[in-house]
Amino acid sequence: MMSLVRRTAAALADDLAAGEVTSVELTEAHLDRIAEVDGDVHAFLQVDRDGALAQAAESDARRSRGEARGPLDGVPIAVKDVLATRGLATTCGSKILEGWVPPYDATVVQRLRVAGLPILGKTNMDEFAMGSSTEHSAYGPTHNPWDLDRIPGGSGGGSAASVAAYEAPLAIGTDTGGSIRQPGAVTGTVGVKPTYGGVSRYGLVALANSLDQAGPVSRTVLDAAMLHDVIGGHDLRDSTSIKQDWPSFTEAATQGASGDLAGLKVGVITEMQGDGWQPGVMARFTESVELMVKAGAEVVEVSCPSFVHALAAYYLILPAEASSNLAKFDAMRYGLRVTPDGDPSAEEVMRATRDAGFGDEVKRRIILGTYALSSGYYDAYYGQAQKIRTLISRDFDAAFERVDVLVSPTAPTTAFRLGEKLDDPIAMYLNDLATIPANLAGVPGISVPNGLDDEDSLPTGLQVLAPALADDRVYRVGAALERLLSDEWGGPLLDRAPTLGSATTTEDQA
Ligand code: GLN
Repeated sequence: MMSLVRRTAAALADDLAAGEVTSVELTEAHLDRIAEVDGDVHAFLQVDRDGALAQAAESDARRSRGEARGPLDGVPIAVKDVLATRGLATTCGSKILEGWVPPYDATVVQRLRVAGLPILGKTNMDEFAMGSSTEHSAYGPTHNPWDLDRIPGGSGGGSAASVAAYEAPLAIGTDTGGSIRQPGAVTGTVGVKPTYGGVSRYGLVALANSLDQAGPVSRTVLDAAMLHDVIGGHDLRDSTSIKQDWPSFTEAATQGASGDLAGLKVGVITEMQGDGWQPGVMARFTESVELMVKAGAEVVEVSCPSFVHALAAYYLILPAEASSNLAKFDAMRYGLRVTPDGDPSAEEVMRATRDAGFGDEVKRRIILGTYALSSGYYDAYYGQAQKIRTLISRDFDAAFERVDVLVSPTAPTTAFRLGEKLDDPIAMYLNDLATIPANLAGVPGISVPNGLDDEDSLPTGLQVLAPALADDRVYRVGAALERLLSDEWGGPLLDRAPTLGSATTTEDQA
């Protein structure tokens, strides 16, 4: 079983096409793996065994008729619990949505179904995607497969951990300020935040509409690209969806895998190094940049001075949008309803429900956001933050006149211990220092695993950012870097993770 779950999505696609395995077999292998290790990892809030196997059987039937819908038809996937799934509870990691079963699919989910990917279940997350450690989930934290006492990143720690623990070959995440890329970095997996508008937000329960973007989580760059080809593209149901023909990301990743970076201009972001960056993270970053130079890239340092204000701007804009979005959880329309004794008014029911249903971090951000938007403070806070947002976009524009891509470490540290930052919101917010500017400007980015910190032996990630719409460049450069690193290591980084559960099968030993 282990050997099947260790295969990449691209390899499984080949196996299926060659008739060497059925979708039911490999879906069952992943479900068994979930049963084996998820008690320790807790990547899933819900596993849909029957649904996944039924979808797998349909995929096998299609394939035997010669009607496979694409390379990933039959390859199972995990979906972050912030995306609406018809008939399958969707909680956003919150008590307030406990038991809510959406009557419709998010466009991303619908596209997975159309392409034939069986959905294994819904993954754990910080409540309403607010957090960097998955500890703010109302259903308990997810554990990092590299060290179960450590966080898997957040908010999409469940999706990243499911892929790192070989419970799923692929997963869907969402990235509002780094929630795909940062969990990728700390679990040794690949995460991509597409260009804003590149993947439909219809059915993605909004945290901050102007920042949210769904994207792929995987173990290789090629797998992420194949998944992006399935979920991306214009959607009439999302007014911010970009209408244009996108190139094949699978092709871009395949080209990049040659490892040749001749002629590529790479900018190292000045503001994303120095104090506060873990020495082991910086050491791996510097080595990766040197590898890129050896492969033909021209590297220069690029200053983006407004980036130092990105965190402050984000933590005004995000709570402002979130406070408005979360107003719809009013005890009347969805999920939980708490009715106080006596003859309570609608407002009293609403107050009791929101008090019981929302966690501390959500309440904190609602208060912050409401304050920032209140008439006396709007100009002083929200207005200023929007100006900074414009300056950040201009910094990106200026940088991309000089270089093709920008690079930085994805996260300032490796995975910290569960509980370590839980009582210190600012320390928690600082994890997204490197990822937030891309969300504020809408540009695409990828996090590629680029080594282990010498001190704690935990994974580090390197982030590649490209101009808006140049997602193919992110895949090309990401795949090249992955190839260069794997040549150095003699195989994938995840092979060095401590193995959970059944270590090997007789097949592996042979
Ligand atoms: N950690 C960031 C936050 O707490 C990013 C979250 C996200 O991308 N969903 O807002």
